[in-house]
Amino acid sequence: MKYPHERNASAEIARIALQKLSPHPASLNPMSFAVWYEYISGINQALSTAMDELLRSHLKLNDEQIEQLYSEHVSECGSRVQLTLREDLKQLLGKLNQLTADADQQTTQYGNTLHDFGERLKDDVSVAELDLLVKDISKDTDKMHSSMQQMHEELEASHREVERLNKEMEILKGAALTDPLTGVLNRRGFEAQSEAIFTDPAFENSKGHCLLMLDVDHFKHINDSYGHLLGDKVLAAIAHTLRIKIQGQDIVGRLGGEEFAILLPNTRVDGAFAVAEHIRQAIERGKIRRLDSHESIEGITISIGISARKKGEELQDLIARADKALYTSKKEGRNRITILE
Ligand code: GH3
Ligand code: MG
Ligand code: MG
Repeated sequence: MKYPHERNASAEIARIALQKLSPHPASLNPMSFAVWYEYISGINQALSTAMDELLRSHLKLNDEQIEQLYSEHVSECGSRVQLTLREDLKQLLGKLNQLTADADQQTTQYGNTLHDFGERLKDDVSVAELDLLVKDISKDTDKMHSSMQQMHEELEASHREVERLNKEMEILKGAALTDPLTGVLNRRGFEAQSEAIFTDPAFENSKGHCLLMLDVDHFKHINDSYGHLLGDKVLAAIAHTLRIKIQGQDIVGRLGGEEFAILLPNTRVDGAFAVAEHIRQAIERGKIRRLDSHESIEGITISIGISARKKGEELQDLIARADKALYTSKKEGRNRITILE
């Protein structure tokens, strides 16, 4: 679903959106409301970047700018990148089709010409005729050569175009696997990368893999006390801490709500525990500045469950055991780590 917020949270976002959009001259229509709603809620990374840039120059948004932001980043018929990508691909295919058709036509023509030249090489051909024939062959071969060269250049240009589209595709695929609020992998991305690690022959003789499941303690209370937007800020800050505490091949994902997972490849349980303890302490010490005042919120904690992958074990089973360990951490008082090997 595009708007994952619960009723209370969306009401709060709507209230802030209305407040923020009122100083701008753009009309108060559903389009401008949608733009501001998505901007305030932070669910649309591309829109946020574009809006931040406009607002940073203290610009007042008018109808034209809102329309542009809407059609480029909000509209349901797909993002601008996706649309132009499809158009570009269509054009490229047309170009390549034309190129192969031309090449086909020219080589057939050249083949026919060569055949004709063969016919002209009769037994009783005179020197003058031979001279003419050689000149004709040379002329036609030159023509073929230059059109081949042109085709080569066109193919090179198409090749560069394919590479450019490839890069854009990578960016699109990346966006589909990333959680826009926190910038870490989403569930799909986390699963895909974990599977890739499990099947990577480079890890065949490794120390094995460990999984950390992390869940924010009493997160509902944070939302209820300070508002959903600050809750979102807490999630982004936690994700940031997780990212800087891991290294190399480790991966981090947000599996949903206020729940994160970290896969530590080639890591034994004692190593995984050390990483988990670092993270637990960093979050316990962290402070989050409130949006509406200069005060900070302290004392946010997380609980962690660790499982170690048995040979050939499926990701879902590994997650289930880490989840069970996490449940024990919650039951025993939170802000702690439990291992279930
Ligand atoms: P526990 O210590 O047992 O984990 O308690 P908890 O309150 O953290 O757990 P609970 O599962 O009861 O509540 C999770 C809350 O997370 C409820 C939900 O509204 C909130 N939540 C889920 N996704 C988001 C989000 O994207 N942003 C914000 N701000 N809150 C979210
Ligand atoms: Mg929780
Ligand atoms: Mg939870």
